[in-house]
Amino acid sequence: MSFLRFQSVNSAGSREINHEGYAESKKAIAIYGKNVFTVDKMRDYLPKPTFVELKESIEGSKRISRELAEDIAQAMKSWALANGASHYTHWFQPLTGSTAEKHDAFFEPDNNGLAIEKFTADALVQQEPDASSFPNGGIRNTFEARGYTAWDPSSPAFLFETGGGKTLCIPTVFVSYTGESLDYKAPLLKAVSAIDKAATDVAQFFDKSVNKVTASLGIEQEYFLVDLSLYNARPDLQLTGRTLFGHMAAKGQQLDDHYFGAIPERVLAFMVDLENEALKLGIPLKTRHNEVAPTQFECAPMFEEINLAIDHNQLLMNLMEQVAKRHHFKVLLHEKPYSGINGSGKHNNWSLITNTGVNLLAPGKTPKNNLMFLTFFVNTIKAVSAHADLLRASIASHSNDHRLGANEAPPAIISIFLGSQLDDILDEVESARVAKKVRNEANLWHGIPKIPDLKMDNTDRNRTSPFAFTGNKFEFRAVGSSANSALPMTILNAIVANQLIEFKIEVDKQIKKGIKKDLALLNVVRRYIKESRAIRFEGNGYSDEWAEEAATRGLSNIKSTPKALDVYVSEESLALFEKLGIYSKRESEARHEILLENFYKKLQIEARVITELTNSLIAPACFAYQNQLIENVKGLKEIGLSAEAYSSQRNFIERISSHINIALEKSEAMRQERKKANEIEDIRDRAIAYDELVKPYFDEIRYHVNKLEKIVDDNKWPLPKLRELLFIH
Ligand code: ADP
Ligand code: MG
Repeated sequence: MSFLRFQSVNSAGSREINHEGYAESKKAIAIYGKNVFTVDKMRDYLPKPTFVELKESIEGSKRISRELAEDIAQAMKSWALANGASHYTHWFQPLTGSTAEKHDAFFEPDNNGLAIEKFTADALVQQEPDASSFPNGGIRNTFEARGYTAWDPSSPAFLFETGGGKTLCIPTVFVSYTGESLDYKAPLLKAVSAIDKAATDVAQFFDKSVNKVTASLGIEQEYFLVDLSLYNARPDLQLTGRTLFGHMAAKGQQLDDHYFGAIPERVLAFMVDLENEALKLGIPLKTRHNEVAPTQFECAPMFEEINLAIDHNQLLMNLMEQVAKRHHFKVLLHEKPYSGINGSGKHNNWSLITNTGVNLLAPGKTPKNNLMFLTFFVNTIKAVSAHADLLRASIASHSNDHRLGANEAPPAIISIFLGSQLDDILDEVESARVAKKVRNEANLWHGIPKIPDLKMDNTDRNRTSPFAFTGNKFEFRAVGSSANSALPMTILNAIVANQLIEFKIEVDKQIKKGIKKDLALLNVVRRYIKESRAIRFEGNGYSDEWAEEAATRGLSNIKSTPKALDVYVSEESLALFEKLGIYSKRESEARHEILLENFYKKLQIEARVITELTNSLIAPACFAYQNQLIENVKGLKEIGLSAEAYSSQRNFIERISSHINIALEKSEAMRQERKKANEIEDIRDRAIAYDELVKPYFDEIRYHVNKLEKIVDDNKWPLPKLRELLFIH
């Protein structure tokens, strides 16, 4: 097997760079949206009245009639065929975390032995993919195993190219026969509609012309690249997405020489290619740079309407996989592929924008605008403060557990960083001085502090906060790099919507009592500032002192997934989701179960891989080298050397023997522990057993294997070493 390691090192080091993308990248404007059936293209393919009806439907979220759907289906088909598509598919986001599709050909034989190309409204609007193997948390019994995909007209259809072929992909939600959602998109759309309604109602206190509020999202995506051959020589990377063994290279990120450094040529060629493919799909990819760890990079598109931004991020992850192959790379989206250096996240930049084009989270120039800004700003802070545990649960996964609570990523404690200027402003608004001023209504506007122009670098300096305000948006940084952002964004929009609903009720109550509107608004805002004080933290989120202080403030610090997930099914959460129409009780419970199941199954796979590799790759390499050393010692003894002359060799033999013996013992003990955990009936208890009784073995075994890696003959070591994975590109 060690041959495989050297072969892979060889091929990784002698790659030719594929420069093909550069020519196309010069035509960025021409290729942008080329593979998307945009509203503009629909105009060309639809009769005018139909087009007008369609636009109204999309903008007003009105139901699309059967006749209209038929016209759109024909237009879509014509466009897809004209652009080389042969198949179509509903494209959806089941709870596996990846995207799913089931292709059908346009081609259909007719009765005369000939064939036609067919695509009807039925095929556009609804399909039954017979996808009974997707996780459903018990929602779908076998007798009602049907799941349906239903068209989401708010996200445009697109052509996905693979090899020479193209497939028309239609974004859809995925629901059960009984109407429960089985995917990430359906609840997101419900949350988007809840925030629209709640934020519009509150925005109308300030501006009656606001009739729609859209949540916007810009996702920064971090990732690692590794040479494909090296990846293929690491079964742990292949099966789990992360290295389960491996001594950190002598050089890691300690020199900070990778961050924002020159992008390696082969990587840049990949990025250029990726950008082209993204642009064709209408993904406005704009930013690219090196990240902190060696071979870690980041890309980010311009922000978009949230549903589209999330579809685009899912699509981007698929594209990364595909384009990486052309450059003999593998993309690692795992949150922590290498222990000892930084992990990857997906920063979710979120704001609320009105149909009149106003960002409700951008400080205004006048006191009145600032009262509006403060209203939305403080309601968001209050929502996060009231439901920090839900937000924490929304980013919980086996892989993100390696970041949260570890010492380099946002901690598992949810807190909000505002930047000193805004922090001071909230203090001032809350202060007694303001209270005195605003009691006299004529003085109300003097009570609202002026907000100076915020310098971006001033607001963005604290990288240790999981939830930071960055000038005109909040940035949720604790989202995992491999996650579907739909879940955390469903939760964020839900809790803010809920808060805004409560806010409006309270303000209305005061107005009814005869208090002037602006004063009523300010009164509630001031109270919210007071009530959400504990969640605000400006210091170093990675420090131990913060963990201690957070505990005294009563903030939770739930480090592991199975316990973080409890809040999904608390009385309070169930009521909140039902009230907003986002998840029914059954849907919440089903999701809870799916997440727990996913958690322990991922640990189960990692445990199996560790045992297998320890027994069948690491141990044989150690034994072989040990035998060699034994021969050597025997030989030296035979020719009459004293024990002192081979004391180092003896020491090596002893150390190898001790480490491999412990590693094998632990690996067997872990197997026994795993068997016990598998017997546990209750899924939460089983997940906790995996977390608390099986997982601790991972690091123990790794410790001994890593020690062995440092002493066993390099020529015999079977797995590509981290220095090879991290520095050959
Ligand atoms: P960084 O956080 O690394 O400094 P930027 O500030 O450039 O990066 O922006 C990161 C992401 O935030 C980009 O996707 C950008 O489009 C997005 N963004 C900028 N303004 C908004 C906004 N008002 N709402 C949502 N996302 C936004
Ligand atoms: Mg950022």
